[in-house]
Amino acid sequence: MSSLMNTYNRQPVAFVEGKGCYLTDTEGKVYLDALAGIAVNTLGHAHPALVGALNRQAEKLLHVSNVYRIPEQEALADKLAEISGLSEVFLCNSGCEANEAAIKLARFYGHKKGIELPSIIVMEYAFHGRTLATLSATGNSKVQAGFEPLVPGFIRVPYGNIDAVQKAASPEVVAVMLEVIQGEGGINLVSDEYLRALRVLCDEKGWLLIVDEVQCGMGRTGTWFGYQHADVLPDVVTLAKGLGSGVPVGACLAGGRAAGLFAPGNHGSTFGGNPLASVAALTTIETIARDGLRENALKMSDLLRHDLEKGLRGIVGVREIRGRGLMLGIELDRPCSALVAEALAAGLLINVTHDTVIRLLPPLIFSEKEVEELVGKLVPLIRNFLKGFLKG
Ligand SMILES: *Cc1c(COP(=O)(O)O)cnc(C)c1O
Repeated sequence: MSSLMNTYNRQPVAFVEGKGCYLTDTEGKVYLDALAGIAVNTLGHAHPALVGALNRQAEKLLHVSNVYRIPEQEALADKLAEISGLSEVFLCNSGCEANEAAIKLARFYGHKKGIELPSIIVMEYAFHGRTLATLSATGNSKVQAGFEPLVPGFIRVPYGNIDAVQKAASPEVVAVMLEVIQGEGGINLVSDEYLRALRVLCDEKGWLLIVDEVQCGMGRTGTWFGYQHADVLPDVVTLAKGLGSGVPVGACLAGGRAAGLFAPGNHGSTFGGNPLASVAALTTIETIARDGLRENALKMSDLLRHDLEKGLRGIVGVREIRGRGLMLGIELDRPCSALVAEALAAGLLINVTHDTVIRLLPPLIFSEKEVEELVGKLVPLIRNFLKGFLKG
């Protein structure tokens, strides 16, 4: 059919155009986008501020090497430091690369302390990417199968259990790495108390607290970053997905005892933070701030949850609606990937993760009208799906 390597289960649709929260396919059919490229299209599609900034930058300069100063990248780093509370930024192109940088940073930190075989505590059901180190850190055997030997130096514990982290302590441990909300793992949350306890434990032990905000960061949960709900400050934060609103860009932020570790030659990236990508991220941040999109995420989240709860109340097979801001999951009591194609037919883009969790990650510009349309389409789909099942 095509020369593409067979790495995705693709839906039989191709889009030619997007505007706001809607996409149009090759046949002219319009879809409401409640997935946003998996938390990527923060500003929706063809946002005038982003289109304008990218056009202006493309006419000036797309790329220069990191052997030169890049003012756009310096401005982005300053902005990210300001909104995160961390102090320095390495720019790359994706989430796995941001996490690779974080893992390297943690190992480097360990070696500087004289630890020869540094280990990082990671979580069950975590997702950190598909490079060798990040798939080794990932808590999903399907992601790892066939790619052994895995990268050593990861100790896995149950998510959200502080005693388990305490028990995993050893002289080799240098860091704890986790998502504040697990995305691929099924929209799983930890309590603010757990994060604060983790911060205290990391301080006691001299470990780095590494927070993977690749999916839940960039305003999606109503704060710039998920950890800000718990009022803790990590040592390392990784970003990608929503950072550039669709332009590939990732970042590894460091502060506290993780700052000042790398020197020239320790890490690098050819494309990382080039002028175009930096402008995309800067414009995304500016637009989120200017247009109150964090506040909007919270407001639309309340409305969406309320309407979903109302629409799904009493339906046997609906287990739970959970999440924060515009990162919501609806857990059913059975595998429901079939819903993705049914939603597509109904002109709605959603996703199912962890087999049983319908995942909603709409653009942060989502409006009341779009919430209404989403609920109006999704609730009957879920209702019919579960009914069909009962009949056999
Ligand atoms: C998607 C994701 C990654 C990997 O990002 P890529 O850009 O696909 O490499 C890492 N961590 C989390 C939490 C993610 O959701």
